[in-house]
Amino acid sequence: MIITTSNHLPDNKILAYFDPINANAVVGMDLVADFASSITDIFGGRSSNYENRLDLLFEEAKNSLIEKCKRLKCNGLIGFSVDFNEISAKGKGMLMVSVYGTPVIFESKQEIDLQHKILDYKSLNYKIKAKEILNKYDSEIIPVIGNSDFEFIVQSKNLAFESIIIKLLNNPRQILNFQGVEKELLPSQILNYYYHLDKNISIERLYKLLENTDNLVLVKQILIFIDDVNLASLSKNLEGLKSDQFKLSKKVNFYELTFLDQHIYLPEDVNTMSEIIENLKNSLESIQPTIIEENKLLGKIQKWVCIQCETKNIIEDTFCSSCGRNKFGFVLYKKSVNKLLEELELKLLVLKETFF
Ligand SMILES: [Zn+2]
Repeated sequence: MIITTSNHLPDNKILAYFDPINANAVVGMDLVADFASSITDIFGGRSSNYENRLDLLFEEAKNSLIEKCKRLKCNGLIGFSVDFNEISAKGKGMLMVSVYGTPVIFESKQEIDLQHKILDYKSLNYKIKAKEILNKYDSEIIPVIGNSDFEFIVQSKNLAFESIIIKLLNNPRQILNFQGVEKELLPSQILNYYYHLDKNISIERLYKLLENTDNLVLVKQILIFIDDVNLASLSKNLEGLKSDQFKLSKKVNFYELTFLDQHIYLPEDVNTMSEIIENLKNSLESIQPTIIEENKLLGKIQKWVCIQCETKNIIEDTFCSSCGRNKFGFVLYKKSVNKLLEELELKLLVLKETFF
Protein backbone atom coordinates (compact mmCIF):
# COMPACT_ATOMS: atom_id res chain seq x y z
CA MET A 1 0.00 0.00 0.00
CA ILE A 2 1.44 3.35 -1.05
CA ILE A 3 0.06 6.52 0.56
CA THR A 4 1.03 9.91 -0.68
CA THR A 5 -0.08 13.50 -0.17
CA SER A 6 0.69 14.07 -3.82
CA ASN A 7 -1.97 13.67 -6.54
CA HIS A 8 0.02 11.25 -8.63
CA LEU A 9 2.41 8.37 -8.33
CA PRO A 10 5.49 9.17 -10.40
CA ASP A 11 6.75 6.18 -12.45
CA ASN A 12 3.55 4.23 -11.74
CA LYS A 13 0.61 3.97 -14.09
CA ILE A 14 -2.68 4.54 -12.26
CA LEU A 15 -5.29 2.13 -13.67
CA ALA A 16 -8.36 3.21 -11.73
CA TYR A 17 -9.48 6.04 -9.47
CA PHE A 18 -12.20 5.59 -6.85
CA ASP A 19 -14.36 8.17 -5.10
CA PRO A 20 -12.53 9.92 -2.25
CA ILE A 21 -12.90 8.31 1.14
CA ASN A 22 -12.43 9.56 4.67
CA ALA A 23 -12.01 8.18 8.16
CA ASN A 24 -12.25 9.77 11.59
CA ALA A 25 -10.96 9.10 15.03
CA VAL A 26 -12.44 10.90 18.03
CA VAL A 27 -11.45 11.29 21.66
CA GLY A 28 -13.78 12.58 24.36
CA MET A 29 -13.64 15.52 26.69
CA ASP A 30 -11.58 13.90 29.43
CA LEU A 31 -8.76 13.23 27.09
CA VAL A 32 -9.05 16.68 25.60
CA ALA A 33 -8.66 18.07 29.11
CA ASP A 34 -5.66 15.82 29.47
CA PHE A 35 -4.36 17.20 26.23
CA ALA A 36 -4.73 20.71 27.53
CA SER A 37 -2.83 19.88 30.68
CA SER A 38 -0.25 18.09 28.62
CA ILE A 39 0.20 21.21 26.54
CA THR A 40 1.20 23.10 29.66
CA ASP A 41 3.90 20.50 29.97
CA ILE A 42 5.38 21.95 26.82
CA PHE A 43 6.38 25.01 28.75
CA GLY A 44 7.96 22.76 31.28
CA GLY A 45 9.83 21.13 28.46
CA ARG A 46 7.78 17.96 28.20
CA SER A 47 5.55 17.73 25.17
CA SER A 48 6.05 14.07 24.36
CA ASN A 49 2.90 12.93 26.17
CA TYR A 50 0.70 15.18 24.08
CA GLU A 51 2.54 14.34 20.91
CA ASN A 52 2.22 10.61 21.56
CA ARG A 53 -1.53 10.88 21.97
CA LEU A 54 -1.94 12.91 18.82
CA ASP A 55 0.20 10.36 17.04
CA LEU A 56 -2.00 7.52 18.28
CA LEU A 57 -5.15 9.32 17.20
CA PHE A 58 -3.66 10.03 13.81
CA GLU A 59 -2.51 6.41 13.41
CA GLU A 60 -5.98 5.16 14.33
CA ALA A 61 -7.64 7.35 11.70
CA LYS A 62 -5.01 6.50 9.10
CA ASN A 63 -5.33 2.76 9.73
CA SER A 64 -9.06 2.81 9.30
CA LEU A 65 -8.60 4.73 6.03
CA ILE A 66 -6.13 2.06 4.86
CA GLU A 67 -8.63 -0.66 5.81
CA LYS A 68 -11.32 1.05 3.71
CA CYS A 69 -8.85 1.31 0.87
CA LYS A 70 -7.99 -2.39 1.11
CA ARG A 71 -11.64 -3.31 1.15
CA LEU A 72 -11.90 -1.60 -2.23
CA LYS A 73 -8.96 -3.82 -3.22
CA CYS A 74 -6.88 -0.74 -3.97
CA ASN A 75 -3.13 -0.71 -3.61
CA GLY A 76 -2.62 3.04 -3.31
CA LEU A 77 -4.07 6.22 -1.87
CA ILE A 78 -3.28 9.62 -3.33
CA GLY A 79 -4.07 13.17 -2.15
CA PHE A 80 -3.82 12.10 1.47
CA SER A 81 -4.64 14.92 3.90
CA VAL A 82 -5.42 15.31 7.58
CA ASP A 83 -7.50 17.69 9.72
CA PHE A 84 -7.61 18.13 13.48
CA ASN A 85 -10.86 19.65 14.78
CA GLU A 86 -12.19 20.44 18.19
CA ILE A 87 -15.91 19.80 18.26
CA SER A 88 -18.44 20.13 21.01
CA ALA A 89 -21.84 18.57 21.37
CA LYS A 90 -24.16 19.00 24.35
CA GLY A 91 -21.46 20.73 26.28
CA LYS A 92 -18.98 17.90 25.75
CA GLY A 93 -15.73 18.68 24.04
CA MET A 94 -14.18 16.24 21.62
CA LEU A 95 -11.15 16.19 19.45
CA MET A 96 -11.56 14.70 16.01
CA VAL A 97 -8.92 13.68 13.54
CA SER A 98 -10.15 13.34 9.98
CA VAL A 99 -8.10 11.87 7.18
CA TYR A 100 -8.97 11.93 3.48
CA GLY A 101 -7.69 10.50 0.26
CA THR A 102 -8.48 9.04 -3.13
CA PRO A 103 -8.01 5.27 -3.42
CA VAL A 104 -6.36 4.12 -6.62
CA ILE A 105 -5.23 0.95 -8.28
CA PHE A 106 -1.85 1.23 -9.90
CA GLU A 107 0.50 -1.07 -11.72
CA SER A 108 3.09 -1.50 -9.06
CA LYS A 109 6.75 -2.08 -9.58
CA GLN A 110 7.82 -4.95 -7.42
CA GLU A 111 10.11 -4.74 -4.44
CA ILE A 112 10.48 -0.96 -4.51
CA ASP A 113 11.63 -1.04 -0.91
CA LEU A 114 14.54 -3.29 -1.70
CA GLN A 115 15.98 -0.59 -3.92
CA HIS A 116 16.77 1.46 -0.86
CA LYS A 117 20.07 0.83 0.77
CA ILE A 118 18.73 1.08 4.28
CA LEU A 119 17.25 -1.62 6.45
CA ASP A 120 15.25 -1.03 9.61
CA TYR A 121 15.33 -3.52 12.48
CA LYS A 122 11.83 -4.83 11.71
CA SER A 123 12.76 -5.66 8.14
CA LEU A 124 15.98 -7.25 9.30
CA ASN A 125 14.16 -9.46 11.81
CA TYR A 126 11.60 -10.29 9.15
CA LYS A 127 14.35 -11.43 6.81
CA ILE A 128 15.92 -13.57 9.53
CA LYS A 129 12.60 -15.22 10.36
CA ALA A 130 11.86 -15.82 6.66
CA LYS A 131 15.22 -17.54 6.25
CA GLU A 132 14.64 -19.70 9.33
CA ILE A 133 11.24 -20.81 8.07
CA LEU A 134 12.57 -21.58 4.61
CA ASN A 135 15.41 -23.66 6.07
CA LYS A 136 13.01 -25.46 8.34
CA TYR A 137 10.35 -26.51 5.81
CA ASP A 138 11.53 -26.09 2.26
CA SER A 139 13.36 -29.41 1.99
CA GLU A 140 10.51 -31.42 3.49
CA ILE A 141 8.28 -33.18 1.00
CA ILE A 142 5.21 -32.90 3.23
CA PRO A 143 6.00 -30.17 5.76
CA VAL A 144 4.22 -30.17 9.10
CA ILE A 145 3.81 -26.51 9.91
CA GLY A 146 3.06 -24.78 13.19
CA ASN A 147 0.33 -22.20 13.41
CA SER A 148 2.46 -19.10 13.83
CA ASP A 149 4.89 -20.10 11.07
CA PHE A 150 1.88 -20.70 8.85
CA GLU A 151 0.48 -17.22 9.58
CA PHE A 152 3.89 -15.75 8.83
CA ILE A 153 4.09 -17.51 5.46
CA VAL A 154 0.55 -16.55 4.44
CA GLN A 155 1.15 -12.88 5.15
CA SER A 156 4.73 -12.83 3.91
CA LYS A 157 4.16 -11.33 0.44
CA ASN A 158 7.19 -13.40 -0.43
CA LEU A 159 7.25 -15.65 -3.50
CA ALA A 160 10.04 -17.73 -1.99
CA PHE A 161 7.39 -19.44 0.14
CA GLU A 162 5.25 -20.53 -2.78
CA SER A 163 6.73 -24.02 -2.95
CA ILE A 164 5.73 -24.59 0.68
CA ILE A 165 2.25 -23.22 -0.05
CA ILE A 166 1.82 -25.62 -2.97
CA LYS A 167 2.86 -28.58 -0.81
CA LEU A 168 0.36 -27.48 1.84
CA LEU A 169 -2.41 -27.13 -0.73
CA ASN A 170 -1.90 -30.75 -1.66
CA ASN A 171 -1.79 -31.79 2.00
CA PRO A 172 -3.88 -29.18 3.84
CA ARG A 173 -4.00 -31.18 7.05
CA GLN A 174 -0.31 -30.65 7.65
CA ILE A 175 -0.87 -27.43 9.59
CA LEU A 176 -0.51 -28.01 13.31
CA ASN A 177 -2.94 -26.68 15.88
CA PHE A 178 -4.99 -24.69 13.45
CA GLN A 179 -7.60 -23.35 15.79
CA GLY A 180 -11.10 -22.21 14.99
CA VAL A 181 -10.98 -23.31 11.38
CA GLU A 182 -12.85 -26.25 9.93
CA LYS A 183 -10.55 -28.61 8.11
CA GLU A 184 -12.60 -28.03 4.95
CA LEU A 185 -11.77 -24.35 5.10
CA LEU A 186 -8.04 -24.90 5.35
CA PRO A 187 -7.38 -24.69 1.60
CA SER A 188 -8.93 -21.23 1.48
CA GLN A 189 -6.77 -20.19 4.44
CA ILE A 190 -3.71 -21.42 2.57
CA LEU A 191 -4.76 -19.69 -0.65
CA ASN A 192 -4.95 -16.43 1.28
CA TYR A 193 -1.19 -16.33 0.70
CA TYR A 194 -1.97 -15.20 -2.84
CA TYR A 195 -4.28 -12.46 -1.59
CA HIS A 196 -1.34 -10.76 0.11
CA LEU A 197 0.86 -10.76 -2.98
CA ASP A 198 0.78 -7.97 -5.52
CA LYS A 199 -2.46 -8.34 -7.52
CA ASN A 200 -0.80 -8.88 -10.91
CA ILE A 201 1.55 -11.49 -9.50
CA SER A 202 -1.31 -13.27 -7.70
CA ILE A 203 -3.24 -13.58 -10.95
CA GLU A 204 -0.16 -14.92 -12.72
CA ARG A 205 0.57 -17.49 -9.99
CA LEU A 206 -3.03 -18.62 -9.44
CA TYR A 207 -3.45 -19.31 -13.14
CA LYS A 208 -0.16 -21.24 -13.16
CA LEU A 209 -1.41 -23.26 -10.21
CA LEU A 210 -4.65 -24.10 -12.05
CA GLU A 211 -2.75 -25.10 -15.16
CA ASN A 212 -0.45 -27.40 -13.21
CA THR A 213 -2.97 -29.31 -11.14
CA ASP A 214 -5.40 -32.07 -12.04
CA ASN A 215 -6.59 -32.42 -8.46
CA LEU A 216 -10.25 -31.45 -8.87
CA VAL A 217 -10.74 -30.63 -5.19
CA LEU A 218 -7.89 -28.16 -5.47
CA VAL A 219 -9.14 -26.79 -8.81
CA LYS A 220 -12.49 -26.12 -7.15
CA GLN A 221 -10.87 -24.39 -4.18
CA ILE A 222 -8.79 -22.20 -6.48
CA LEU A 223 -11.82 -21.21 -8.56
CA ILE A 224 -13.82 -20.37 -5.42
CA PHE A 225 -10.88 -18.31 -4.14
CA ILE A 226 -10.45 -16.44 -7.45
CA ASP A 227 -14.17 -15.73 -7.35
CA ASP A 228 -13.99 -14.47 -3.74
CA VAL A 229 -11.11 -12.08 -4.32
CA ASN A 230 -12.06 -11.13 -7.90
CA LEU A 231 -8.76 -12.13 -9.40
CA ALA A 232 -10.08 -13.55 -12.66
CA SER A 233 -8.42 -12.15 -15.76
CA LEU A 234 -10.04 -11.98 -19.18
CA SER A 235 -6.71 -11.66 -20.97
CA LYS A 236 -5.28 -14.72 -19.18
CA ASN A 237 -8.45 -16.63 -20.08
CA LEU A 238 -8.14 -15.76 -23.75
CA GLU A 239 -4.45 -16.64 -23.71
CA GLY A 240 -5.28 -20.06 -22.22
CA LEU A 241 -8.07 -20.71 -24.71
CA LYS A 242 -5.83 -19.88 -27.67
CA SER A 243 -2.96 -22.00 -26.44
CA ASP A 244 -2.33 -25.40 -28.01
CA GLN A 245 -0.85 -26.55 -24.76
CA PHE A 246 -4.17 -27.36 -23.08
CA LYS A 247 -6.69 -30.12 -23.57
CA LEU A 248 -10.40 -29.32 -23.67
CA SER A 249 -10.80 -30.47 -20.06
CA LYS A 250 -8.35 -27.70 -19.06
CA LYS A 251 -9.80 -25.11 -21.42
CA VAL A 252 -13.20 -25.32 -19.77
CA ASN A 253 -11.51 -23.81 -16.70
CA PHE A 254 -10.78 -20.69 -18.74
CA TYR A 255 -14.39 -20.50 -19.87
CA GLU A 256 -15.55 -20.90 -16.31
CA LEU A 257 -13.14 -18.18 -15.16
CA THR A 258 -14.67 -15.85 -17.75
CA PHE A 259 -17.96 -16.06 -15.87
CA LEU A 260 -16.24 -14.85 -12.69
CA ASP A 261 -15.72 -11.16 -12.12
CA GLN A 262 -12.47 -9.42 -12.80
CA HIS A 263 -11.56 -6.76 -10.25
CA ILE A 264 -11.71 -3.81 -12.63
CA TYR A 265 -12.68 -3.55 -16.27
CA LEU A 266 -10.90 -1.42 -18.85
CA PRO A 267 -12.03 -0.52 -22.40
CA GLU A 268 -9.67 -3.14 -23.92
CA ASP A 269 -11.59 -5.85 -22.04
CA VAL A 270 -14.48 -5.38 -24.46
CA ASN A 271 -12.42 -6.84 -27.31
CA THR A 272 -11.02 -9.60 -25.12
CA MET A 273 -14.46 -10.61 -23.95
CA SER A 274 -15.87 -10.54 -27.52
CA GLU A 275 -13.07 -12.86 -28.60
CA ILE A 276 -13.75 -15.26 -25.75
CA ILE A 277 -17.46 -15.32 -26.60
CA GLU A 278 -16.63 -16.11 -30.24
CA ASN A 279 -14.25 -18.82 -29.09
CA LEU A 280 -16.91 -20.26 -26.80
CA LYS A 281 -19.54 -20.27 -29.57
CA ASN A 282 -17.14 -22.13 -31.85
CA SER A 283 -16.45 -24.70 -29.14
CA LEU A 284 -20.08 -25.15 -28.06
CA GLU A 285 -20.39 -28.42 -29.87
CA SER A 286 -17.37 -29.93 -28.17
CA ILE A 287 -18.39 -28.91 -24.66
CA GLN A 288 -22.00 -30.05 -24.93
CA PRO A 289 -22.38 -33.47 -23.30
CA THR A 290 -22.75 -36.45 -25.56
CA ILE A 291 -26.01 -38.20 -24.85
CA ILE A 292 -26.06 -41.95 -25.21
CA GLU A 293 -28.88 -44.37 -24.83
CA GLU A 294 -28.40 -47.86 -23.53
CA ASN A 295 -30.81 -50.55 -24.52
CA LYS A 296 -30.87 -52.82 -21.52
CA LEU A 297 -33.50 -55.17 -20.15
CA LEU A 298 -34.80 -52.22 -18.15
CA GLY A 299 -35.39 -50.25 -21.31
CA LYS A 300 -33.67 -47.12 -22.54
CA ILE A 301 -31.56 -45.13 -20.11
CA GLN A 302 -30.32 -41.73 -21.15
CA LYS A 303 -26.75 -40.91 -20.13
CA TRP A 304 -24.24 -38.13 -20.72
CA VAL A 305 -20.52 -38.61 -21.20
CA CYS A 306 -18.17 -36.52 -19.04
CA ILE A 307 -15.74 -34.47 -21.13
CA GLN A 308 -13.14 -34.76 -18.39
CA CYS A 309 -13.08 -38.48 -17.59
CA GLU A 310 -15.54 -40.02 -20.07
CA THR A 311 -17.65 -41.53 -17.30
CA LYS A 312 -21.23 -42.24 -18.42
CA ASN A 313 -23.57 -40.46 -16.04
CA ILE A 314 -27.34 -40.78 -15.71
CA ILE A 315 -29.25 -37.82 -17.09
CA GLU A 316 -30.52 -36.73 -13.65
CA ASP A 317 -26.97 -36.16 -12.36
CA THR A 318 -25.79 -32.56 -12.58
CA PHE A 319 -22.20 -33.42 -11.69
CA CYS A 320 -20.11 -36.35 -12.91
CA SER A 321 -20.24 -39.24 -10.45
CA SER A 322 -16.56 -39.89 -10.95
CA CYS A 323 -14.73 -36.54 -11.28
CA GLY A 324 -17.29 -33.99 -10.06
CA ARG A 325 -17.38 -31.70 -13.10
CA ASN A 326 -20.78 -30.82 -14.54
CA LYS A 327 -22.08 -31.80 -17.96
CA PHE A 328 -20.19 -28.96 -19.58
CA GLY A 329 -16.95 -29.57 -17.74
CA PHE A 330 -17.48 -26.77 -15.22
CA VAL A 331 -16.58 -27.11 -11.58
CA LEU A 332 -18.62 -24.40 -9.83
CA TYR A 333 -21.57 -23.89 -12.12
CA LYS A 334 -24.69 -25.94 -12.40
CA LYS A 335 -26.07 -23.76 -15.18
CA SER A 336 -26.06 -24.78 -18.80
CA VAL A 337 -23.43 -23.36 -21.07
CA ASN A 338 -26.13 -21.59 -23.11
CA LYS A 339 -27.41 -19.78 -20.03
CA LEU A 340 -23.88 -18.71 -19.15
CA LEU A 341 -23.28 -17.53 -22.70
CA GLU A 342 -26.42 -15.40 -22.47
CA GLU A 343 -25.16 -13.82 -19.24
CA LEU A 344 -21.77 -13.13 -20.79
CA GLU A 345 -23.33 -11.37 -23.77
CA LEU A 346 -25.32 -9.15 -21.45
CA LYS A 347 -22.17 -8.33 -19.49
CA LEU A 348 -20.40 -7.47 -22.74
CA LEU A 349 -23.27 -5.21 -23.80
CA VAL A 350 -23.12 -3.28 -20.53
CA LEU A 351 -19.35 -2.91 -20.83
CA LYS A 352 -19.73 -1.60 -24.39
CA GLU A 353 -22.36 0.91 -23.31
CA THR A 354 -20.16 2.06 -20.47
CA PHE A 355 -16.99 2.57 -22.49
CA PHE A 356 -18.16 3.53 -25.98
ZN1 LIG B 1 -15.99 -36.96 -15.02
